[in-house]
Parts: sequence; C-alpha cells; structure tokens
Amino acid sequence: MAWFKKARRPIAPPTDKTSRVPEGLWIKCPSCAKVIYNKDLGINLHVCPNCAHHFRMSAHERLEMLFDEGRWTEHDPDLRSTDPLTFTDTKPYRDRLAASIRSTGRKDAVVIATGELDAMPVVVAAMEYAFIGGSMGVVVGEKITRAAERALADRSPFIVVSCSGGARMMEGALSLMQMAKICAALGRLDRAGVPYISVLTDPTTGGVTASFAMLGDLNLAEPKALIGFAGPRVIEQTIRQKLPEGFQRSEFLLEKGFIDAIVDRRALKATLGKTLRMMMGLPPAENASVAAP
Ligand SMILES: [Zn+2]
Repeated sequence: MAWFKKARRPIAPPTDKTSRVPEGLWIKCPSCAKVIYNKDLGINLHVCPNCAHHFRMSAHERLEMLFDEGRWTEHDPDLRSTDPLTFTDTKPYRDRLAASIRSTGRKDAVVIATGELDAMPVVVAAMEYAFIGGSMGVVVGEKITRAAERALADRSPFIVVSCSGGARMMEGALSLMQMAKICAALGRLDRAGVPYISVLTDPTTGGVTASFAMLGDLNLAEPKALIGFAGPRVIEQTIRQKLPEGFQRSEFLLEKGFIDAIVDRRALKATLGKTLRMMMGLPPAENASVAAP
C-alpha cells in the first residue's frame, strides 16, 4: 500500500474551452489605462475619448477617414516584391512576404488611392505598418513615385501618410535608392507648383524620415508620434550625451522647427481640406469637413 494517496480526484478541467466573452471587444488605452469599447474607438477615429491617445491606424482606415464618403480608387495594388537579393535572416524574406500578404491582404506596405477630399481631387499614399513594419522596399518606392507622377499629371495635390520603420533591410541598397527616386519625383511636383503635404504618424523613422516624409510643402504630425532617424540608444552611444525628455516626439520636433504643426487626428481632414484649397487658390468648400471638438 502506498504511503500517500489522493483521497479525491483532481478537479476535471472544463470540457467547454470556448470563452463566452468575444475577443477584441474591449481595448485598454496604453496611455491612461482606461478600458474602451472597441466600436467607440472606431467611431472616434481610433483616438482615446479619455486622454486623446492616438492609436495606430491601418492604411484602409486612414483612407476611409480622409476621402469623402470613404470612397476612393486604388492604384497598382498588385505590385509585389521579387526578393531581388534572395535574402534570409532568421527566416527567408520570401516567407515573411507571404505571411504579411496573408495577414494584411495587401501585397506591400503602401496603398495608393485617388478620390476627393472636401470635393477636391487628391492623390493619397497611406503606409501600412502591419506589413513588415511599414518598411520601404522597391515596391513602396515605386508606388509612391508613381503616385507623385499621377498627382503631377492630374495637377492634384499629393498627400503621403507615413507610418514606417524606414528602409526595408531585406532589400538592402535597393531600398535606399527609393529615397532618391521618390525625392526626384517630388522635386518635379514642386517645380510644377503642385502641393505636397506630408503627414507623419507614429512611428515615422529611418529612411522615410530622411527622405519624403520631411519634404512636404507642409509637414504635419499627429500628437506624440515617434519621429526620428536613428533610435535614441544609438544616438546616446554616438554623442555620449543623455537625450532630453520627449526627444523624437512630435511636440519636441515642433518646438525645434522640424515640423510645421501638430494636428489632432479628428481635425486632420478639415485641416488638409482647408490648407490644400488655399494652396490651390480655390474658394472654401461648400460642405467642408469640420474638426471634431
Ligand atoms: Zn487614454
């Protein structure tokens, strides 16, 4: 006979493992810790109703917010990377691409769209962070260049909403070349007098900051967005100095004259509409968007 034996059977695990609470209904604000109903957050353009924290938005949500009645035409949706360097890090780049295409339903990290913003035709490029960190490879470069050329041909204002970790390392120097290519297209747009507005959202870093994101006739940023070139630790190690509080956030950059204005997302469409009409020498729109309080 054993010295010890269990007098009672252990409690059986529940057979029904499905939770009665649907997932993703509620979300906790990382800034004020308030629990927000996901639907309310969507209605409020993904801005926390309590503390105005700006949550990250997908390219689709961004376009839906900017275009009149959420209607637009997408261009070049099928361009995709050919993995020119047959690059492999912890896993092959080809597999990473396939996984991102599956999870986002996009072929690469930017969506090009034309439509109307406050009844004015515009070309918008919205970056998709969920696709390999919104990184800029050959496809992103080509699509933004084509978008700028389209804006030039139609003489429509051009808006780029950046949300990117920078150049895509899996495409090496080919990614870096996109910086020059896009800048050249923006130069042509500038010489033709067609307005270009850059909207910087959280995060905008690396080669994107170092090229087209800073070249707008107007550079607007969302509140508290991380904007920078290299990460703070790399800079601290290089200059051997402690960096100030809030370094690389929109507010700090505005103070230093790096960006022109910080615009709350709920006022972004109205601001873009008003500013572009002024730049294009058009009268204010009859039913212009109004900024939410
Ligand atoms: Zn909050």
